[in-house]
Amino acid sequence: MNRTRTAIVIGGGIAGPVAALALRRAGIEAAVHESHATTADGIGGALSVAPNGRAALGLVGVDRIGAPMNAIVLQNHKGRVITEIRQPMQFSWRADLYRRLYDLALDQGVAVHHGHELADVRESGTGIRAVFADGTVSEEADILIGADGLRSTVRRLIDPRAPQPRYSGLLGFGARVDGAGRPPTGDRMYMSFGRRAFFGHQSFDDGTGVWFANLPHPYLTWTHVRQTTNEEWLRRLGEAFADDRVPALDLLRRTPPQDLVTAGPMEDLPHVPHWHRGRMVLVGDSAHATSPSSGQGASLAAESAVELARALRDLPYPQAFTAYERARRARVERVIAQAARTNSGKAAGPVGRTFRDALLPLFARFATPERMAWQYDHRINWEAPIAA
Ligand SMILES: Cc1cc2nc3c(=O)[nH]c(=O)nc-3n(C[C@H](O)[C@H](O)[C@H](O)COP(=O)(O)OP(=O)(O)OC[C@H]3O[C@@H](n4cnc5c(N)ncnc54)[C@H](O)[C@@H]3O)c2cc1C
Repeated sequence: MNRTRTAIVIGGGIAGPVAALALRRAGIEAAVHESHATTADGIGGALSVAPNGRAALGLVGVDRIGAPMNAIVLQNHKGRVITEIRQPMQFSWRADLYRRLYDLALDQGVAVHHGHELADVRESGTGIRAVFADGTVSEEADILIGADGLRSTVRRLIDPRAPQPRYSGLLGFGARVDGAGRPPTGDRMYMSFGRRAFFGHQSFDDGTGVWFANLPHPYLTWTHVRQTTNEEWLRRLGEAFADDRVPALDLLRRTPPQDLVTAGPMEDLPHVPHWHRGRMVLVGDSAHATSPSSGQGASLAAESAVELARALRDLPYPQAFTAYERARRARVERVIAQAARTNSGKAAGPVGRTFRDALLPLFARFATPERMAWQYDHRINWEAPIAA
């Protein structure tokens, strides 16, 4: 069977552009099709990029991203520091990482089409085409890559019985605050297990700051989350942190309602049984969404996109898809499972909270750089050939 020469990439978020750039590096031409009519500039909140993710992004030309976030200081609801966990992360606005990748893709001649919402595919003996919701059809390519996120259409086309995202029991919120009114925290992010919700914040030398909150809540769809005004969410968050001695209330007060980022229900996909079928394959959140608690969503998406391109460089697509899944599945599912355990601590009830607070110092003793090396020290050797 011949080498793969052309690819359709569905989704122009993070995994999509990384896949297109890595495919170009592998000598495969890729075009990106994104459902949104415009770019995602200014949309989304903060995310972290782990050293493993930085290394993967470096392979497609992203040299610098974000600001250092080298430690997490864990506090209890009284503001007492329980422990400090060293971890060499970068803090980035999702919109900045997105824009960097988008510009790189355009610079390298990747065609990015907006307003192309995938609805179906047409697969034949010679190739595959994307059918969009407006009825238009793409040119034929050798393969189609689903980088279309948590609610992936490609995942459903590969397997109509594919699992739906799993709710963690937490709603996510956050904001950038221009006048944080707090001393800079250096390269540290402070995180606290409050009585009723989880809070994180970091302040920078220029007086700006960022905070995020995870609020235990019965499941709400995105539509329901949006039906509640930002003013009301800020009020409810204020209630949740009212009894905690952390700077949550002050930072909430300093957040103009229009600047509140509602990340909605925090969800993951612990196990997607089929990552590929025929000429279709998944990459990023569509295959292995982890809840934001891992700090690894964008990093794993970048790693997978690069590994997929590397496999397609060396093998015909059926074997490449198998080799790619073999290289990735155990690793990503381990990260997802670890984040899910963290979430259950954040959503703990009164009894669970007592256990959690007692066990936190112990947990911290295990979260050493050596024990986390399997996550952070992972590096992809682009030059190494892949065998079937
Ligand atoms: C607008 C936005 C804001 C985000 N903000 C944050 C944040 O603040 N913090 C955080 O940790 N994570 C955020 N995420 C999620 C984060 O980007 C991902 O978890 C991670 O980077 C993996 O990226 P991905 O490319 O696999 O998925 P995503 O980044 O979700 O990208 C998927 C892309 O596919 C597009 N798409 C979906 N369905 C179709 C379709 N049928 N046809 C064509 N295109 C389709 C989507 O519009 C999106 O652009 C955000 C995602 C989006 C889309």
